[in-house]
Amino acid sequence: MFDRDLVIVGGGPVGATLALGLREADFRVALFEARGPGEPPQRDRSLALSHGSRLILERLGLWSRLALTPGGLTPISTVEVTQQRGSALLRFRAEELDLPALGYVLRYGDLAAVLDQALAEQRVDLSWNCRVNSVRATASYAWFEATSRSGAQDQSEAGSAALVALADGGAGEGYWQHDYHQCAVVAEISVADAKHLAIERFTPLGPIALLPQGERHALVWTLPEVLAQEVMALDDQAFQARLRGQFGVNAERLAHPGPRRAFPLHLRLARQPVERRLLRLGNAAQTLHPVAGQGYNLGLRDAFALSRMLCEGGLAELGSERQLRAFKNRRGSDRWGTTLATHGLIELFEWRAPKAAELRDWGLELFATSPWLRRRASRVLMHGWR
Ligand SMILES: Cc1cc2nc3c(=O)[nH]c(=O)nc-3n(C[C@H](O)[C@H](O)[C@H](O)COP(=O)(O)OP(=O)(O)OC[C@H]3O[C@@H](n4cnc5c(N)ncnc54)[C@H](O)[C@@H]3O)c2cc1C
Repeated sequence: MFDRDLVIVGGGPVGATLALGLREADFRVALFEARGPGEPPQRDRSLALSHGSRLILERLGLWSRLALTPGGLTPISTVEVTQQRGSALLRFRAEELDLPALGYVLRYGDLAAVLDQALAEQRVDLSWNCRVNSVRATASYAWFEATSRSGAQDQSEAGSAALVALADGGAGEGYWQHDYHQCAVVAEISVADAKHLAIERFTPLGPIALLPQGERHALVWTLPEVLAQEVMALDDQAFQARLRGQFGVNAERLAHPGPRRAFPLHLRLARQPVERRLLRLGNAAQTLHPVAGQGYNLGLRDAFALSRMLCEGGLAELGSERQLRAFKNRRGSDRWGTTLATHGLIELFEWRAPKAAELRDWGLELFATSPWLRRRASRVLMHGWR
């Protein structure tokens, strides 16, 4: 009845993991990706994956392959959280939770290469170099229009589908947006005596994360836009000195910064993540601030949960109102919990009332002295809000 059964728009980390989770589906899956085959993503960055994401990627048979990528998977055994205007030190340790690691760091480009390869091996009807230009949904079908770049000529395609999953990173319309007026400056840097240690430092200008990545660390330095432009233009010596200035004690541990990239930051929430015969996933549903590294982890949980529901429902249920409502209900608390917690952290650490820094220090101390609170927080960070 439909030209396609399920159409996935976007073969980034979230769209690809959805497609890979549909191995046993009894319906046809078509995936459209704007990149060319093997083409690396334009804006590489490092991603911290939680232990919960590891469990999902293991079930999809991808974990062992990720370990073999050029950048590999670097375990995080300890996370240290501090704020610049305070003295409290909060530590999360993997051993406290009887886990091999709290999370793992890998490069977006390595993840994309493994997913591309796995898609090529699976029976997915995959169109590279193909951009979906518009999607429309009605109660009885979804409609898509796409353009493929092949050689000198563009080819157009249009058709109906029982369900369209938009995982295109969220470039279109229909979003509620909050601009942080900040950029994340990312780079690799050497941090002495910090093997498997992740550091999150909150400053009045924005959070700074250092994630262990092989022998080095991946830096994600959040700054107001103007200052971000300024630090992007500094030479390596001056950049290193400016960064050290944010750390105080032990700042000399930071050295040899590599090339930098800047990412503008905003919170974007789809007004309607789930409509009839159309749903949005990953950044297309919500683009979050990178603090605490939650974006892909959340998108992966959504994609995996959706793939299970779609496989169970089969072709008969595909895209039905009941199925999409069930998905929305099942995943709503994690979506909202993760979004609010991420945004709340930014607001909390930028709050400038006279006693704000003391109150935050008190909160960090509370977590530092309560194993129960630390375990609760770690579980949420690893498995989301349930
Ligand atoms: C600085 C920074 C650090 C981050 N750190 C972390 C972290 O530590 N942990 C974490 O979990 N998350 C992190 N994130 C978030 C993470 O990068 C995103 O959540 C993740 O990339 C979302 O994946 P996605 O597949 O939804 O979208 P994207 O990665 O944007 O992929 C979208 C895909 O769709 C394709 N596409 C776009 N438009 C079309 C179209 N019209 N037709 C066909 N294809 C299309 C694109 O080519 C692309 O391949 C970070 C983000 C930033 C900016």
